[in-house]
Amino acid sequence: MDLNGKTAIITGASGGIGRATALSLAGAGASVVLNYSSNREAAEEIKEKILNSGGSAETFKADVVDYSQCEILVKSAIDHFKRIDILINNAGITRDNLLARMKAEEWHAVIDTNLNGVYNCCRAVIKPLLKQKSGGRIINIASVAGIYGNSGQANYAAAKGGVIAFTRSLAKELGSRDITVNAVAPGFIETEMTDQLSDQVKKQALEHIALGRFGKPEDVAEVILFLASSSGYVSGQVIAVDGSLSM
Ligand code: NAP
Repeated sequence: MDLNGKTAIITGASGGIGRATALSLAGAGASVVLNYSSNREAAEEIKEKILNSGGSAETFKADVVDYSQCEILVKSAIDHFKRIDILINNAGITRDNLLARMKAEEWHAVIDTNLNGVYNCCRAVIKPLLKQKSGGRIINIASVAGIYGNSGQANYAAAKGGVIAFTRSLAKELGSRDITVNAVAPGFIETEMTDQLSDQVKKQALEHIALGRFGKPEDVAEVILFLASSSGYVSGQVIAVDGSLSM
């Protein structure tokens, strides 16, 4: 899996799956653009780790909810690394609640970050990618909740389901330009996002995972690396990384 000479933007690189993805892509030779929104310290720590192992990385703050910040992120990445080849739309949040109690702010925050954020970053990267005329890889991090739904996550499932439909449409739109667009749908992965869940919810989830363990960020990063470095005949797909939770 060789990504030498390629540049990858990873949104939400300061979090669990983003961090593992950054390390994995940098390990395969990619120059990585580490986007964060608030946790600069975590992003800088990953940058140091990559630089110390001979890789290439830079951190850039941007809120994916704001299109103009996404444009600046892409422009900064190209100014710094001279090109862009891979976009990993990984930034995401949860605001779980039963619908009867779900405030409008909880609905909008999740749709804005998890769905509109993917649109913003794709929209910002698409012109430079097309201009380069050397193809590209877009990988959107969805969720099994976006395929099967989940009680208490109507906002999150709606956003992730939207990401999946968006992924398939974009794959059709960009296929002729050798740009593949795929989604990865993690199940229950041990990160800060799932740390917040109660022991009871974790116990119930574990009962439905045939592999008998929660996933690690590296389990997801491995599939992202495959899609990022594949020869390019996989597009418009949704790959679940869930230990069979959704089966
Ligand atoms: P995490 O550890 O909480 O990390 C979330 C990341 O998203 C952080 O880097 C955070 O940046 C970033 N982020 C949040 N809002 C942002 C914004 N407006 N602009 C830019 N960045 C923003 O979560 P994770 O578990 O690694 O999740 C990564 C992705 O996987 C998400 O899309 C999530 O929905 C998806 N996923 C996770 C699981 C799971 O079980 N963990 C399952 C299915 C899908 P700052 O910290 O700098 O604010």
